[in-house]
Amino acid sequence: MRFDEFAMDLDRLEATSSRLELVRILSELYQAVTPDEIGPITYLVQGRLAPFFEPVEIGLAEKLLLTAIAIAFGADKDEVGRAYKEIGDLGLTAEREARRAGGRSRKAPPVLDVHRRLLEVAAATGQGSQLKKLELFSGLLAELDPISAKHFVRITSGKMRLGIGDPTVLDALSTARAGDKSLRPLLEGAYNRTSDLGLIATTLWSDGEPGVEALKVTVGRPIRPQLAERLPDPDAVIRKMGMVGVQPKYDGFRVQIHKDGDEVELFSRNLENMTGMFPELVAAGGRVKARSIILDGEAIAYSPESDEYLPFQETMGRRRKHGIEQHALRAPLRAFVFDVMYRDGKDLTTLPYEERLAIVEQVIGGSDTLLSAPLTKTDSAEVLRQELLENISKGLEGVVAKRVDTPYQAGARNFNWVKLKRNTSGQLNDTIDVVLIGYYRGKGKRVEFGAGALLAGVYDSDRDEFASITRIGTGLSDAAWRELYERVRALEVDHRPARVNSILTPDVWLEPGVVAEVLADEITPSPRHTAGMAEAEPGLALRFPRIVSFRDADKRPEDATTVKEVQEMFQQQRARGAGGSR
Ligand code: ATP
Repeated sequence: MRFDEFAMDLDRLEATSSRLELVRILSELYQAVTPDEIGPITYLVQGRLAPFFEPVEIGLAEKLLLTAIAIAFGADKDEVGRAYKEIGDLGLTAEREARRAGGRSRKAPPVLDVHRRLLEVAAATGQGSQLKKLELFSGLLAELDPISAKHFVRITSGKMRLGIGDPTVLDALSTARAGDKSLRPLLEGAYNRTSDLGLIATTLWSDGEPGVEALKVTVGRPIRPQLAERLPDPDAVIRKMGMVGVQPKYDGFRVQIHKDGDEVELFSRNLENMTGMFPELVAAGGRVKARSIILDGEAIAYSPESDEYLPFQETMGRRRKHGIEQHALRAPLRAFVFDVMYRDGKDLTTLPYEERLAIVEQVIGGSDTLLSAPLTKTDSAEVLRQELLENISKGLEGVVAKRVDTPYQAGARNFNWVKLKRNTSGQLNDTIDVVLIGYYRGKGKRVEFGAGALLAGVYDSDRDEFASITRIGTGLSDAAWRELYERVRALEVDHRPARVNSILTPDVWLEPGVVAEVLADEITPSPRHTAGMAEAEPGLALRFPRIVSFRDADKRPEDATTVKEVQEMFQQQRARGAGGSR
């Protein structure tokens, strides 16, 4: 397939406002490609060159991209800069310059060729690499027609706006292969084990369904993390789960530690490679007593001076790309390891939890940096309540109760793990992570910041869609509004994105990208919002929402709270009595 043919499909994907159409167009694209092409194309439609967990970056900042556009189409650099300022979109700027230069003279290169050459751009490092990147990149851009140039630049600048989520790719692969969505569970299972859509696509095309089934947990590829459900109180937990193992819920960030011989890699909750950021965890991972291992845990910053764990914001401050050594000394991380999924060539995910935790203790014993999470077994609501209160009084978030006889279920959120937090009177007892899907222009004083109120949604994981749940008007300082506006500007689109489901129409639509943690008083039925809306049933809305933090550092839009979770929280709120005070 040539890149210009691929770009035509990207244009069709961009133009649609329907998720079903996205799946259809993408599956048609898949039907037209060879097994060699399907992997790279799967990465490219999501604006990447490699799976999310591989730190492959083109490494051309905005300024250099503008220079490359000028070189490729023989335009004046300042002129291109001015055009970009006016248009506000690098892709459209490239398209315009390509048109002014008279379009394309030669035949566009094959997609595979473009992908390979982009990998070369990404691989150029060290002295003189910027020049080399620029040369390779502008050479490639010069070979493209206007529409190809637009998509090519968007892919490479990380500003792809097609909004194709992982479930949409899985549905499209299934549709292309089987004519319907029947292969989705098989593909999703493989995705939970490998986190690599390109690998799954290639395997399906070359080895069929048995090949996909045979894709195993592997060191070096993050496993999609198991997640926890919510229940309102200790009585409900024991009623639902019976005997549980209770652990503190540490308030840091999730880390998966992969060791293969001398090599250690770290992955985040959203599958990002974090190896370079935490030298102390890498060193500790290297000392684990196993040839190869995959561990799961929660990392939290610690102050050597006061001998105390630091608050969440300070722990998150360690997720940085610069000044790593210095910060590692000031606030070193410790990781509470609560699971093991693989050891010395063996997949351990099917072992009961208690056995896995015993292996954790065995392999990390003696480490100061990796500590095993303690476990208290109980079937008494009273004991569970004591554990919860004790952990809260120590400044922790709460507890996680786990069924001790269950396997590790990659990517699942079910009642094998349940989180229990403090119940605050008059409020929901948990925050909700929403995704910004639009904004309303400000009135009065807010006009100068561009945004007056935000429209936010939650994620419907079955439909790979963002359904509206609330309008947020307060909770941010003027400075925070201004900063937020700068961030959302890059996500503006001129029509409702295909994956957004909303009856309300904001002044400006946003491609889902910014995740905000929101506290609200309660969940109420609402005919205006689409979250959980079914035939003849209203949707659900948040009352008095206020933003408490932004979570995009560790959550992708698809990691936001799901419609199903909100429905469950609504049921639990009802059971407690409206208002939720206890
Ligand atoms: P939150 O916003 O509450 O962290 P989340 O969406 O990140 O929620 P949940 O499934 O709601 O994830 O809660 C599980 C999270 O709690 C895990 O992802 C992990 O980061 C954290 N955690 C802390 N301590 C533990 C523990 N002992 N066992 C499992 N998870 C733990």
